[in-house]
Amino acid sequence: MESREVRVSAPGKVNLSLRVGPVDERGYHPLETVFQAVSLYETVTASAAPEGTLAISVSGRDSELVPCDESNLVSRAARLLQKHCGVTYGARLAIAKTVPVAGGMGGGSADAAAALCALNELWGLSVSSEELTLLAAQLGADVPFCLHGKTMLGTRYGDVLTPLPAAGTLHWVLVPSAAKLATPEVYRHFDVLSESTLSENTVLPGSADRRAPQVERELLSAIAEGDPHRVGKLLRNDLQESALALHPPLREVLETLRAGGALGVLVSGSGPTVMALAEGEAEAAALADFCFAAGLAAIPVTGGVAGPLA
Ligand code: ATP
Repeated sequence: MESREVRVSAPGKVNLSLRVGPVDERGYHPLETVFQAVSLYETVTASAAPEGTLAISVSGRDSELVPCDESNLVSRAARLLQKHCGVTYGARLAIAKTVPVAGGMGGGSADAAAALCALNELWGLSVSSEELTLLAAQLGADVPFCLHGKTMLGTRYGDVLTPLPAAGTLHWVLVPSAAKLATPEVYRHFDVLSESTLSENTVLPGSADRRAPQVERELLSAIAEGDPHRVGKLLRNDLQESALALHPPLREVLETLRAGGALGVLVSGSGPTVMALAEGEAEAAALADFCFAAGLAAIPVTGGVAGPLA
């Protein structure tokens, strides 16, 4: 058999704003979010294997925490593509991770996005970008964004995407955490906190708080203008309080980054990775050095990078 391999990289993401509404009738949290892809990539290498074989291997950051069985998002992506196209071709899929696992940066979603593109090419399926995006949404709300990357507004559950104009390049410093937070647990705690706020304010369920969650329009204009000072002031995450409650040492990480001169700091997605905005490349490098001196491992990255379908 011809030994062919296809290698595709997809970026992890941060959320510059993540506004979350109460659970809807389908049991999901509606949200509005600004996704930005960052220059921390997951790479999936797909190679030919006999019919019926699907073998997953994982290397790199936190790889010991990632299952290599059918529960791996890459395996689920492969099964979905096989079913969609009515094929049973085999593949070996090697995942090389740089995005922290369970870190709120969509690493598993980036793996699934890269796998869809790699297998589409390896198996010669010619599935269109539009169809791949629809398949991606079945795998997880963040997967469509990881296919496209750059900067986008995500609505509904984050899976309906609108590209956002963005001038210049934002420079981030990421501080991963040894602790891991499971996204469903963070949402459950968000529900608990929202319930207690509701009862404190004696707001009737179904009234004011049922409004659709909305990202501040001022943030969108700051991104369009490429003004890191304004963007830094407008970073928001409705899940941050839950992440801090579940992992209190994160408060100190936020404080350290503020003390190091960050223009804004935020827990990324469901956490516990923390992101800090710097004015430019040199300032990001200096902030990362400040973190190292304070005993925190920090990774400078750039925002707005393209995904494999962009
Ligand atoms: P979210 O997209 O919800 O923000 P996250 O970035 O916090 O997720 P991930 O690293 O994507 O977290 O993975 C969360 C869990 O999914 C892990 O604990 C792991 O057990 C499981 N998982 C399944 N497939 C993968 C994969 N390919 N890479 C990483 N984790 C995976």
